[in-house]
This record gives sequence, structure tokens and C-alpha cells, in this order.
Amino acid sequence: MNLSTSLEKVKGVGTKTAEQLAAAGLYSVNDLITFLPRAYEDYSHVTRIADIAPGKLTVKARCEKVETRPVRRGMKVTTATLADDTGKIQAVWFNQPYRAAQLAGGAEFVFSGEFEFSYNRYQLTNPSAEKTSELPETEGKVVPIYRAVAGLKTALVRKLLGELRPLITMLPETLPESIVKKEKLFSYSEAIKGMHFPDTHQEADDARERLAFEELFQLLLASQYNKQENAKLEGWHIPFNKEVVKAFVEKLPFALTNAQRIASWDILQDFEKAVPMNRLLQGDVGAGKTVVAGLAARQAAHEGFQSALMAPTEILANQHAATLDKLLSPFGVRVGLLTGSVKGKAREALYNAIREGDVDVVVGTHALIQSGVEFHKLGFVVIDEQHRFGVAQRQELLKKSAKMPHLLAMTATPIPRSLALTVYGELDISILNEKPANRKPIETKIWSPNSRPQLNALIDAQIERGRQAYIICNLIDNNPDNDLKSVEAEYKRLRSSVFKHRTIGLLHGRLSPAEKDLVMGEFASGKIDILVSTTVVEVGVDVPNATVMVIEDGDRFGLAQLHQLRGRVGRSEHQSYCYIVPSDSKKPSQRLKEIEKSNDGFYLAEVDLKLRGPGEIYGRAQHGALNLQVATLGDTKLIARAQAAAKRFVESGENLLHYTQLARQVKTYQRLTTLN
Ligand code: ADP
Ligand code: MG
Repeated sequence: MNLSTSLEKVKGVGTKTAEQLAAAGLYSVNDLITFLPRAYEDYSHVTRIADIAPGKLTVKARCEKVETRPVRRGMKVTTATLADDTGKIQAVWFNQPYRAAQLAGGAEFVFSGEFEFSYNRYQLTNPSAEKTSELPETEGKVVPIYRAVAGLKTALVRKLLGELRPLITMLPETLPESIVKKEKLFSYSEAIKGMHFPDTHQEADDARERLAFEELFQLLLASQYNKQENAKLEGWHIPFNKEVVKAFVEKLPFALTNAQRIASWDILQDFEKAVPMNRLLQGDVGAGKTVVAGLAARQAAHEGFQSALMAPTEILANQHAATLDKLLSPFGVRVGLLTGSVKGKAREALYNAIREGDVDVVVGTHALIQSGVEFHKLGFVVIDEQHRFGVAQRQELLKKSAKMPHLLAMTATPIPRSLALTVYGELDISILNEKPANRKPIETKIWSPNSRPQLNALIDAQIERGRQAYIICNLIDNNPDNDLKSVEAEYKRLRSSVFKHRTIGLLHGRLSPAEKDLVMGEFASGKIDILVSTTVVEVGVDVPNATVMVIEDGDRFGLAQLHQLRGRVGRSEHQSYCYIVPSDSKKPSQRLKEIEKSNDGFYLAEVDLKLRGPGEIYGRAQHGALNLQVATLGDTKLIARAQAAAKRFVESGENLLHYTQLARQVKTYQRLTTLN
């Protein structure tokens, strides 16, 4: 028997069990031993019922009487009398009616839970319950609980793992021995044993640490190798021309911030190198990333190179094309726009122009990566709001050049350093850490839904001064299942009552591209006073004259999303306001309080990381695929250790291929995280 042996060959697995295991995605021995517990129950300290005191505890007892009865609103309560040789207590479970059948029959169980005063008496609330005879053979009785994937029973998993124990003790090491020793880690075999059969909590913790380290090490090693490989690529040489850059900067209607200047310089220097640029431009909402990309595109065009800028939405692509055209056409640089709504003859003509080099800067959506698009000489690729794209999409665009083009990925999602290191280890980073000097901090307030008239008055006062407002709702049309606000209803209501005297626009994802374009255009030119919109305007949209952002049902949005939405205002010298209206007048959540308190995207990202964890934040497209099982990207200390170890390994010149398992994982991660 070895790791690739099919589970059907394991003792006690018949066809039916094999099907159950397959339904949970477990086919081979390796699948099962790496199916890690989600939690542990500690049965190592059993309290006699006579000695019980309030708090978390474990008792070993039989169930004397159990009954389930319905209470209000479909809720079911199961109560049981538990007895050992020293006394009796009551246990209670809410909505776990299967407990009655489980506990009947008089067998001995271990119960673990909180003994507390509730419903006028002391009782054990929602304890776990396991038959003593089914507990695994560990000394300390710290027992693993497995995820019930497709109804998989913990008892079954434990039993099969018990069969595999001899094999587990002989598992070969998967990391280089020198690293295991230097980092004082468990061996692979010890770690797998420790996860499934820990004698103590400490052992389970150490086992987890070893496996988490291994994952991070693989990931970081992959990024080191990617970086090495990038360094071998030959890129386009785009020389810096001082006069060209100076002329561009002088024509701008504003002075560049220092941060914009430094970032531009980073890029122009990279353009001159033999290796293609691989750079992340990170700057909070409104920091002015677009003009930095524009400047670089200007330099590229001067040397005869085309640039491509990909944006995640059509609204944003339209806006960027207009912005860049304004910045670049005075210098004879031709800007083209390619989106899904450019069709038929127009698309053919544009394809031709791109192929012939008659367009210098091509702005577009995903339409840019379609197979029909061929460039004449693509030297510079910009991915705006890069967290919205998957790795594959970036790669598609980069492939459209004879040599690897220079890449600038832009994002407002501020990535905490530890994360940047892990996921973008191979990127160079430029940060716009200041906003243009004319900006005032946005005033943010959580606004009670009971004080609408006052809110409307504030909005109206801004419009009276010539400003504009956004009102964001969750839904497009009304949903009978909840009372969240919809744009359609809100649009009708405002138009026919409070804001009868104002011009109101409606924007959402179900409009045709042409309709969206029309509405956005009217809002940008100031024809529309109030734009009632869904989150289609969440990223990138830039209408500097808008100073009010109202977010309806604000508790339904994530922190990053709220910050992005708020970033649609505060883009000019005018004082701006963000009003977040929760869906009820209950106490506002931590999230809302944080956003009210801070305008700082970096701070909010750190908070978000704590509240939700990194997987949720940085999007499935990129990180879902990484599929970390054990490690969390929030564990900065372990990341730093793994990073140092990966660096040492690469510098030592050791051959990765000596480590079969490691090499395979690293290859997978390399494919997932590379930008090329
Ligand atoms: P983001 O970083 O969110 O993509 P944009 O590039 O859309 O920001 O820029 C936001 C707004 O700020 C735009 O209207 C842009 O013209 C303006 N802007 C950019 N740089 C400056 C600057 N240095 N001074 C004043 N306004 C600027
Ligand atoms: Mg932007």
C-alpha cells in the first residue's frame, strides 16, 4: 500500500463506502491522509458530575431520558438527562433533533460543552456527543472532528485513518531535511500523525504549523523561481526621452504629486532595462493612477510602441479612453476603444488599425484578449483594477506581443505587506501614498434610516451649489423576499417626490452598453444631478464634481466595497460627503464604525483582513485557485520564516528536482501566480 493506492483497497471499504468517500472528493490514500480535521474536541479532562462547576467541560455519561419538542417559529429543542455514577445533569440542544436517536440505547458517551445558566437553570448547552467506544485510540483523548463533506461521518474517517496508521508512521519527508532541522519543524510523518492522532493540543498545533509552513514555502519558492525566470526574459528597450516626458507633464492641468513623479520614474527606468517590467502600482482610490499610466504610454508611443490598457468594466474602459484621449491626442498619440459593444464593421476596422499600428493606445475590456486582436508592436500593458482579473486573463494579453511587454498592474486594494510578499513576491511595487494636494478628507457618517428628510436636505444643498450625488442601492428591481432598496424603485420615488426639481439618472448592469454610456456621459458632463446606481460604478469611475455618496443598506456591503464606493467622491477640491444608511436602526456593525472612522485604505484593509480573512478579500479569481489548506495569509510571522527559507534554498543552488513532491507543488503554484 502506498499514497496513490485507491481507497477501495483499504480494509473495511466496500463499494458503498468508496462512493461516499468519492462524493467527498477522496479517492486515494493520499487524499484521505491530507483530509485534515477542522477542529479538535478535548476529552482529556473528564469531570465527574458531582464535581461540576459552570464553564466549559467534558463529562462521561449515559443518557437516561431524551425528548425533542417544537417551540416557537419552527425551532426544535432536545433535552436529555445525563447520568454518571456520581449524579445527573440536564443537557439541551437547539435544532439538532437527530440527537434523540443518537443518544437512545444506553451507551456511554463523552459530552463536551458549556455548562451554564440559561432558561432558569444550569445545563449543558449544545454539547458535542461521541460514543466512548468510537473514540480513536489516542492517549490524551484530543480527538479530531472532520468536515462533513457530502455527509461524510467523522467516525468513518477516523476508522479508516486508524487502518492507515502504520503507513503514516513511514511517510517520507517532503521538505528538504536541512530546512526541517533548521526551522525545528515536525517531519512530514510526525505532522500527519499529529493532525489525525494528537496526544495533546500542542502536538496538533505543531503539526499544523509544519504543514502551514510547507504550503507557504512552496508558494514563496514558486514566486522566487518565477522571478528568476522573468529575469531571463528579453523585453523591449524603450529609451527615456526627457523632452517628451516634460512636454506631457507641462500640459497637464495639475502638478503631479511627488508620489506620482516617483512612480512614473520607476516605470520609465524599467522601460530602459533589458528585462520586461513587472510592476504593481498601488494607490488608494483617487490617488491618480491613470495619469501615471498615461505618461508611460506617451513615452512608449514616442518610441513606436503600442500600449494596451485593460479595465474590468465597460463603463470604466469608456472613461479611460476619454481621459487618455484628452491627455494624449495633443501629442498625436491615437487612442482606440475596444469593448464588447464595438461590433461588425467598426470592430473590423479597429482590429485592422491595431494590427497595422495605426492606433497607439488601445483601451478596452476583456474584449482585448480575444483571438482576433493582433498588435503591431505591443510594448506596454496596463491592467487597471488588477484584482478584478484572473491570472489567465493577464497572461492572454501579454501573449499578444512578440517579446514580453512591460507590465503595469494597478490596484486601489491596498495589500498588506505580508500578503504582497506572498502573492506578488515577484513584483516590484510602486506606491502612491499621497493624494493630490487639493483634496479634503471625505466626511463619512452612518445615517439613521429614520432621518431621511435631513439627509435629503443635505443632498439638495450640495446640488444647489452645483455639485452632484450618487445614491447606491443593492438591487436592480424590488425583491419580494426582502426589503432592500432597489435602484428602480428609488429612482421612481425620488423623481416623483423629494427631488422632483432635480435631474435624476438611473444606472445598472441590465441596461444595454449604449444606455449605460449615455447615462454615464450625462452624469460626467453634469447634466444629471443625482445618479441612482447599483455597484456598477464601484471601481474606477471618476466624476470629480460629484461630492455626495449615499450608500443605501450599507450594512450589506463589505468594507473594501464601501471604501471603493466612497472613493467615487472626494476627487476634487470640493469637500465631499459619504452617508451610509443601514437597513435598520439597530446598532451599526464594527465594519460600518470602522469606515466612518477612517479614510485610510491601508488601515481599512488591515481591519478587513482581521474581520474576514484574506481569502475573502482578494478575490477568488487569484487566490481561490491557490487553495491554501492549512496556512492563512494572515500569519505574518510564519510567512516571513517561509520567505527567508525559500530565499536560502534558491541561493544554495540546490536542485529542486531532488524533491519530487515539492517540485510538483512548486510547479503548480508557479503556473498560478506567474504574471507571464
Ligand atoms: P485612481 O487612482 O483612483 O485611479 P484617477 O486616476 O481616476 O484615480 O484620478 C482621480 C482624479 O484626480 C482624476 O480626476 C484626475 O484627473 C485627478 N488627478 C490625478 N492626479 C492629480 C494631481 N496630481 N492633482 C490634481 N488632480 C489629479
Ligand atoms: Mg482608477
